[in-house]
Amino acid sequence: IEASVEKIQNRLKTGIDASLCMSYPQPILVERPDWMGDNETNTCVICNSSFTMLNRRHHCRRCGRVLCGKCCQKETFNDIQDRYCMVCAYVLENSALNLPAYDLTKYFENTTLLTVINNTDFLMYGELIRLFQNSLKDDAARKQLQNQWPQLFIKVFALINKCVDKLVAKSKESFFTKSRAEFTAQEAIPCLQNCLGLVINFTASKDESFANFLTSHKEFDCIGSIYKVMDDEIDMQRRELGIWALRNLSTTAKNAKRISSFPTFVKIVFQTLLVNVTQSVENTLGLTYNVARQNEQILTQLLPISPIPNVARRAEFVTVFIAKTAEWSKVAQAQFFMIVGKLCMNKECRDAVAQTNFFSQLLEKITTETNTDSVLYGLLNCLGSIVEAVKEDQDFSAKFVKMASNPGVMNVVCRQMINAKSYCSVEAAKIVCAMFEAQKDIIYKVVTGKCKEAFVEAMFTLVHTDFIWEDAKKYATEVMGMIGKKDEGGIYKDVKRKVKEMQE
Ligand SMILES: [Zn+2]
Ligand SMILES: [Zn+2]
Repeated sequence: IEASVEKIQNRLKTGIDASLCMSYPQPILVERPDWMGDNETNTCVICNSSFTMLNRRHHCRRCGRVLCGKCCQKETFNDIQDRYCMVCAYVLENSALNLPAYDLTKYFENTTLLTVINNTDFLMYGELIRLFQNSLKDDAARKQLQNQWPQLFIKVFALINKCVDKLVAKSKESFFTKSRAEFTAQEAIPCLQNCLGLVINFTASKDESFANFLTSHKEFDCIGSIYKVMDDEIDMQRRELGIWALRNLSTTAKNAKRISSFPTFVKIVFQTLLVNVTQSVENTLGLTYNVARQNEQILTQLLPISPIPNVARRAEFVTVFIAKTAEWSKVAQAQFFMIVGKLCMNKECRDAVAQTNFFSQLLEKITTETNTDSVLYGLLNCLGSIVEAVKEDQDFSAKFVKMASNPGVMNVVCRQMINAKSYCSVEAAKIVCAMFEAQKDIIYKVVTGKCKEAFVEAMFTLVHTDFIWEDAKKYATEVMGMIGKKDEGGIYKDVKRKVKEMQE
């Protein structure tokens, strides 16, 4: 149960419980075929010692930089002995890093690695960023990096911007003005990948302070830089990583608002959803849900007049993606329904959704869905949002509650209210409570009619036993209060009888 509680808390916090962290190590960067020219430097690129007759130049066989003999020693990798600089040797030694969590102390104590941070060689920078992105697997490692080397992030975002400039060919200037200025678009891709990977893994936490750290830094524009990665000139894979990073950042209200303030937000959401890559659909929906929770203005934008070709009317947005959910993962399906639930909080959107067959599809799915872990959770969450939203809208709520409280749906809802293993319980109890608040007479008729047995069982269990979900208990108590004294359907009497049976 504890693990499932953890999972659910995660889901509530982030929209859903899909992986926030890139768990696979990124590939090592392309090796540089070109050697640095002997006359490009008079000092070793790592220790800065001057070259003399005795202190000779050596080239690292991997990065091609010029170094002194002390910094570029003979090492054996893959059975080949050759000269490698200390950074490359370190990278090769640690290339398979994919530990569940990693103590970064080893990095911070390595003064050779520190030379890279002050160096201007972008490729070595990419290597360093790669080391860190593969090691950030838990909050302890994230805290360590934030406290020890906060300046790394300034370089990360500078590199992201440079890579983007290179890839969209907006900038003709060379990458770094000093030595090793060669910078091809091919090399920009792994660099960009490592930078985004670092941002993703740094923010893949329930602790919002990491996302806040990145977005409140004055020396770089975190969200703005990531948006640049979404440029049409940049390939889809890099864009997917950008969305992943934005999704991790979108857990705070401030960040969600900023993210949705970009004019391309809706376009990017639509384009990515239509491409249908599982991880990317989940990230896009997670991001959209986080934004929809925080920014009511974005709701109407999410149902725009014509965001994509062939979608002429607002309502068709829901129709297009409802058809697509069948191809999506369970997590993505749940996310989609949660988003539409949020959309329905807005009257304009609700009217648009009402023009489609979304409501009947939702209710039918509730009666047939057996996956209580994610899909049913998403469906119930959606239904709860809608009932909650229409409470004040008497005409709409009378129609909607009548439709939603059919015995098929209500039996599932009652059963789920007392499902101790799933947070669906809270969602279900919330639905019943909202239905009572909105249309007491209609719902009372149903729970004293065909669903009476299941309803009495649910109320009895929630109110009179030690139930795991405090919130579900709270909603049920409220419902019992609303049923009140004029209980002609005999709910109280039946619950009391059950209590008595239990005591005996
Ligand atoms: Zn040296
Ligand atoms: Zn090297």
